[in-house]
Amino acid sequence: MSVQLKIWGCRGSVAAPGSDTVKYGGNTSCVEVVLEDDVALVLDAGTGIRALGLDLVRRGVRQIHIFLTHLHLDHLEGLRFFAPLWDEQVTLDVWGPRSPVLSLRERILRAFSPPLFPLDFGDVPARVAFHDLPAEPWRMQGVSLTADLVLHPGPTVGFRVETAGASLAYLPDHEPALAGIERRSADWISGGALAAGADVVLHDAQYLDEEYGAKIGWGHSSVSDAVAFCRAVDARRLVLFHHEPERSDSALELLQARARELTRGEQVPPEVAREGMVIELG
Ligand SMILES: [Zn+2]
Ligand SMILES: [Zn+2]
Repeated sequence: MSVQLKIWGCRGSVAAPGSDTVKYGGNTSCVEVVLEDDVALVLDAGTGIRALGLDLVRRGVRQIHIFLTHLHLDHLEGLRFFAPLWDEQVTLDVWGPRSPVLSLRERILRAFSPPLFPLDFGDVPARVAFHDLPAEPWRMQGVSLTADLVLHPGPTVGFRVETAGASLAYLPDHEPALAGIERRSADWISGGALAAGADVVLHDAQYLDEEYGAKIGWGHSSVSDAVAFCRAVDARRLVLFHHEPERSDSALELLQARARELTRGEQVPPEVAREGMVIELG
């Protein structure tokens, strides 16, 4: 079974369209795990999910699972403009981290009702169900999935997706440096168990090192911490993700060059995530 990843949005915090973000894209987090059958697995529902939704309609995919790392708006705000919602033959399962206060449905529907949105969720024709993410790994459509809490404000998880031949860790919003990365085993690093030995890691690299000092505790990583994290957990390939909205295409290429200097040839050269990028997972 061949599995691909397709990046539909990799911008952090807020969408950033414009002439200087054309190459890497301005849409916020959304990644599709592309399977051979007609079921879609989607990681996060940032503004990138709008174009994915149109593509799923075109492909006739009517069974869809969306896995949310957390409910910050940059990971959720595309859901209201997700075309499959408006098809009564669609079955949509939305999975997210549990909260001790409100159900996932109640938290999401705050953003899906007046005055924040003109329609009420009751008007949606698709069959939609909300689920707390399982605490233990589970299997779906021939892949194994794991969700685990990671360091970021509010209940936030990262995901590990494993196929028969390869593994992916998706950690778009993550600040493992807060608890420490160096000189500890992978299972004592935030997100370490999710990313241990992974073939591909999509990891938060929102800041240059010189910017990070003013942003400690905001929940995001510097480029050198993203590289250090992958080295510490023995991951093979780092894809730098959750780009700072202010970061132009040319500035992202400088960030990529910085990451490559830091790896010093010991890992596969890190790459900057780009909207439309397809990664073969095997
Ligand atoms: Zn985010
Ligand atoms: Zn966040």
